[in-house]
Amino acid sequence: MNDPQTKEWLATPPRYPQANTVEDFRRNLGVVKTRIADACRRVARDPATVRLLPVSKTVDEARIRLSYAAGCRLLGENKVQEAHRKWSTMADLPDLHWSVIGHLQTNKAKLVARFATEFQALDSLRVAETLDRHLQAEGRSLDVFVQVNTSGEASKYGLPPEDVQAFVHKLPTFSALRVRGLMTLALLAHDTLRVRACFVLLRTLRDRLCQDIPAGIEMNELSMGMSGDFEIAIEEGATVVRVGQAIYGARPLPDSHFWPAASPSTEWKP
Ligand SMILES: *Cc1c(COP(=O)(O)O)cnc(C)c1O
Repeated sequence: MNDPQTKEWLATPPRYPQANTVEDFRRNLGVVKTRIADACRRVARDPATVRLLPVSKTVDEARIRLSYAAGCRLLGENKVQEAHRKWSTMADLPDLHWSVIGHLQTNKAKLVARFATEFQALDSLRVAETLDRHLQAEGRSLDVFVQVNTSGEASKYGLPPEDVQAFVHKLPTFSALRVRGLMTLALLAHDTLRVRACFVLLRTLRDRLCQDIPAGIEMNELSMGMSGDFEIAIEEGATVVRVGQAIYGARPLPDSHFWPAASPSTEWKP
């Protein structure tokens, strides 16, 4: 917590106010949905083709329950153990589902197979194979997205774009995985041109994959865009936007805590 970047981050006022009541959540969700609708209007898309995935990482159980009361039913978490813990303590909430959106190590695949309904960060055959085996044992299946590294940052997870085609063609063997599409994290920068380029790359890749798609696999979905950039993602074809801070409020830690590559302060290019 003592690095200069964290200090700088803590010194700046939060961009997103914390939601502490059901009313706060209704208001924040309303604002996000309006932003989604506005972005859709600019590119003549139907807002019903964009799914909002609220991201509840670091948010405690009490506030998650408030967001549930405001209508959230599928929640994204980037750490498996945190997601599993929340799943077990909130099992009383009907129709609440969990989407794991962060990198997965094979030794945690068993846990994901037990409780998650969606996994958005598939980027290795070993994880695919391990997940499939545990899912078969549980008699479950899982919606999955293949994560692509569209920003070229070495420390980001995800497959390099040129490896995606061959990877996707190996996935039909894993019958418990329902492949839905691609996922990416754009560059965490204020340079909207470079952010947009990440989203364009993911869409182009998806369109190319769709021309030669193996049986049993779907490639329609594009999960891209977060609180700071989801309008751009929608303009470029996002079908899922993963939004945390604009719904729950600013997190008590900078993004660099979650992704070692993230350093908005150094990437700032006015
Ligand atoms: C945290 C996170 C998000 C949401 O980011 P916000 O800035 O809170 O909207 C989206 N995707 C992934 C993979 C995340 O870890």
